[in-house]
Parts: sequence; structure tokens; C-alpha cells
Amino acid sequence: MAGAGKRVYIKTFGCQMNEHDSEQMLALLTSHGYHGATCPEEADVILVNTCAVREKPEQKAYSIMGRLHQLKRDNPRAIVGITGCVAEQRGEGLWDHMSSLDFVLGPGKIHRLPEVLHAVDTGGDGVCATGFEDGPFVHLPLPRGCRVRASVTIMQGCNNFCSYCIVPAVRGRERSRPSKDVLAEIKSLVEQGTKEILLLGQNVNAYAKHDPAELTFPQLLAKINAIPGIERIRFTTSHPKDLTEETIRSFGHLKRLCEHCHLPFQAGSNAVLERMNRRHTREDYLALVQRLREVVPHLSITADVMVGFPGESEADFSQTMELMQVVEFDALFSFKYSPRAGTRAAQWPDDIAPAAKQRRLESLQVLQREITLKKNRRLAGEIKEVLVEGYSRHVPDQIMGRTRCNRIVNFAGGPDIMGKVVQVRITEGLQNSLRGELC
Ligand code: SF4
Repeated sequence: MAGAGKRVYIKTFGCQMNEHDSEQMLALLTSHGYHGATCPEEADVILVNTCAVREKPEQKAYSIMGRLHQLKRDNPRAIVGITGCVAEQRGEGLWDHMSSLDFVLGPGKIHRLPEVLHAVDTGGDGVCATGFEDGPFVHLPLPRGCRVRASVTIMQGCNNFCSYCIVPAVRGRERSRPSKDVLAEIKSLVEQGTKEILLLGQNVNAYAKHDPAELTFPQLLAKINAIPGIERIRFTTSHPKDLTEETIRSFGHLKRLCEHCHLPFQAGSNAVLERMNRRHTREDYLALVQRLREVVPHLSITADVMVGFPGESEADFSQTMELMQVVEFDALFSFKYSPRAGTRAAQWPDDIAPAAKQRRLESLQVLQREITLKKNRRLAGEIKEVLVEGYSRHVPDQIMGRTRCNRIVNFAGGPDIMGKVVQVRITEGLQNSLRGELC
């Protein structure tokens, strides 16, 4: 086999989609004889799977490329490739950052990784494979081994063109995977012992929206719910405009669908939402939250929000804070706006001073920490269903699992309950997790 005995190290930046792409690249290379390395120094092939959605992970990717250039000098036989969104966006321009780079591979071409590695291995110089191919959704092998939780991509790309977002440019237009393939992959994972499935897509709830012959998103959820042995289903990331009444009702009647919805709102001001081209208003968003909570009152709602978008006034920002107080999110992923080359917003002045962006971010995070802590403390005394994932990374001698609402719980327990669903009494709510005792 082409990669027999060779070791591969993958450094991943960014979101769950990227983590899943890295898992699939490793699985693909494993099927060609490669195996994993724990650090770049011991690897024959080093991949940096980049993210261009925000400035910070992109800068981190450039900084690691500097270190890899040094490593290539010490070990010229090592093959170094850049994958992911920065690869798609910058393409051959990446050789300006790292002249010793061996290849660049966009997210639409990861199925070609073994072939590209072979080309480099046999003397090909500077291979650059980017762009998206028409035709069927490319299937990659499943990562091996039993995992309690596994991600399954059901769609890729995005048609929404939010004015700040580079995803449609670097991940292409929406493409949904045939439901029969999705269901077959999930059945196979569940047969191997997986209990929880996370359905992935940049705009996951727009699944097959333009294909009348395919299952709708809620129909797909119902089919997955009926797979024997599956314990939990989650999905991310949803767009408010594609959250249909039928999907909302699914939270109420599908037993395996967890009571957690990640629903980015990005801003609380209609003026900002319009410039962002979000295609929903704050009123639309609040109506969805109300409807979700009518169906499942204890549903956990998490979101993404951005501060410092061009033209965001103090009054606009106050509306974001006010929306947070009304909704009381269970958790929030908050970011400062940074212009992404190639987006519409990047053509506008980035007119919010860095200090103001930082102040707004900190105010928002202080508020969210208070809300999260208050909600976590309220759970003390309740009994929760917890899926045990492994040993706690932060609390010695304890094991760690998640509630259906996606809260982390640490508690005492033995190896016999690993991978099982157990009942845990919550004894204390902390800032980022819960403590509990096995019932
Ligand atoms: S919905 Fe908007 S923010 Fe989300 S991936 Fe698509 S363009 Fe980007």
C-alpha cells in the first residue's frame, strides 16, 4: 500500500466540520496503510487543516507554517500539506508563506488526498488541488473503532452569503448527501457501539431543501430516530430562516432527539442583521425561541454572536445585550468581527475601534457567564440522563458525561459505565460544568 508504515500528523483549526474533515482524512489515509503520529516531529506527512472563518485561526495556521518550514529544513523528506478553508481561499498564494510547502488541498478535494500524496512522493512539485466537483456527494471511509459520539456530515456548503462570511466561497454551494447513505452510515456506527450522532452541515437544517425527491430534514430526523440502538441525535449548525415548524415539533416527539438547539443569532439589531444579510429579524428569532420553548420548555438554546460589525452603534450593541437577557442562552460563542477578504462586508470600513470591540465582547461575556452560572446552579437536585464519555480531563479520578442538553457532568464512577446512559443526581452547578452523583 502507498502509505505502508508511514505516519501522519494532522493539526486542526476551527469548527466541528473541520474536526470531522480531519477525522475523515485520517481514516482515508489509514485505509491506504498510513497510521497516526502524535507530533509533527515523528511524522512522515504533516497536514495543517485550516479555518478561514475568523482571523485568529487563520493567523495561527500561518504561524504553524513558519515552524513547519524549519522542520522541513531539518527533515526534507517530510511531506507538508495545507488543507481546509485557507487552502481553498489562498490556493497557490500559500507558497508565498511557505516556499517548502508540498501541496495545497481544498475541502472539496479531500477525497483526492492519497492521490496527491502519491504525486508528491513520486516527485511532483507544489501540487495545488482546490475547487468543487459537480456530481454525487463524495463518500469517505468511516473512522475506525467504536466511539460513543460520532459526527456524520449530511450536507456541505452554504447558499446564504451572510455578508461577513467566507464559507460559501471556500466550501461552495449547498450539497446534500443522499439520505440512504446517511442512514447506512449511522446504522453502521450504531452497530459498532456509537450512542450519539451529531449531524453536521454548514446550514444543516436546509438539508435537501431544493430536492423534492429527497427526505426533508425533519423526515430524516424521524428515520434516524427509528434506528435500533441509537440513544441520542443532535445537529449543528442551524440557520433561523430554515428552522421549520415541523423541525421544531420534532423536538417534542422524537425521543432520541436531544433537547438542545444551536441557533446562531449574530446580532440583536435589525439594522445590523440586515447589513449582515442574515435574512431574519430579531422578532423572527425571538418568535422561534418562544415556539421552541412552547414545544420543549427546558430546551437548551446556544448561539453564535458577533460584536463590532461595521457600523454597529452602541444602541445596536445594547439590543444584542437585551436579546441575550430575554432569551437567556445556555451558552454563547462570541466573537469580534474581523474582515474576511472576498466577502461583501470586507469592502466596508472596519469602523469599530479595536478597544470598543474588546469592551463589547467582554461586557457580553460577563453577562453570559452570569446567565450560564445561574442556569447551571438551578439544576442542583435534579436527576439527569447522562451519556458517559470517559475520564474527566479536569477533575482527577472522576468520569465525565453529558446531559441531553449538552452540559458536562463530572461524577464518581467506574469503568463499567463507560459509554452507557446513566442517571445522575446533580449536586452543584458550576460555571462550565455540573457536579453530580450516580443514582
Ligand atoms: S449561514 Fe451565513 S454564517 Fe452560516 S455558513 Fe452560511 S454564510 Fe456563513
